[in-house]
Amino acid sequence: MNIKSNLHTHTPYCDGSSSIEDVILRAIELGYESIGFSGHSFTDFDPLPSMNNCEAEAYEREVKSLKQKYKDKIEVYLGIEQDIFSPEPPFKPDYIIGSAHYLDVGTEKVSVDNTAELACDAVKKYFFGDWLSFAEKYYESAKDAARITGCDIVGHFDLVTKFNEGNRYFDENHIRYRTAAIDALRYEIDYCNLFEINTGGIYRKKRTAPYPAEFLLYEINRLGGEIIFSSDSHDSASLGYMFSEAVEIAKKCGFVYAKVLKNGVFKDIKL
Ligand SMILES: [Zn+2]
Ligand SMILES: [Zn+2]
Repeated sequence: MNIKSNLHTHTPYCDGSSSIEDVILRAIELGYESIGFSGHSFTDFDPLPSMNNCEAEAYEREVKSLKQKYKDKIEVYLGIEQDIFSPEPPFKPDYIIGSAHYLDVGTEKVSVDNTAELACDAVKKYFFGDWLSFAEKYYESAKDAARITGCDIVGHFDLVTKFNEGNRYFDENHIRYRTAAIDALRYEIDYCNLFEINTGGIYRKKRTAPYPAEFLLYEINRLGGEIIFSSDSHDSASLGYMFSEAVEIAKKCGFVYAKVLKNGVFKDIKL
């Protein structure tokens, strides 16, 4: 397996558990060429998993200082996972992952990936129990992640399926679901054509396949989009989790190359 990089990595400055240095040391141990950190941008309505200005500045300082310390061993990048409902970060990131984690239902922002209970409550309260409407609403705003954040990478495109393993809450083959997801993809790809294949949901035992689902990967490929692998790591142990399996899925969906960040530029590597 030749993917020796991960750009979607959280730290204790947001909701990660391993220190930045521990993650870097683990990446070096794995023979990585590069490791990028992507702390959650600030969400004032849900501050806990995000970085406020003060935390973001401390995060920036620490990543930059460790980048210097390990510069002969590995490339370290300062990124951010920018939510569609966040203000701009207080530093200039090396790259941006654009993500949608919430639905704006007017009176509040509802998290789609916090807990299944929270999502179920929101579906009951705001969508008359109709999960397909919830998913449609998600894609209505998620499709704008690239336009709003100006991202380099689209994060976990179909995050709304996080708790839906085995079609537990809604049928992912349903025409309404597929139409909403495909329409959103076709819109978003004009703003950013690099999508991550994210194994984080598998590591957290919520999903058995990476985001995005295969039908979306086929469409990304058909539209000329590109992919990058990420483990959406919240601890050092998850770096590169299930990348070999994810690569096989990508190949099956028609991809021959994936991107990695090297010397500050996204380069193709053959799968
Ligand atoms: Zn995310
Ligand atoms: Zn993340």
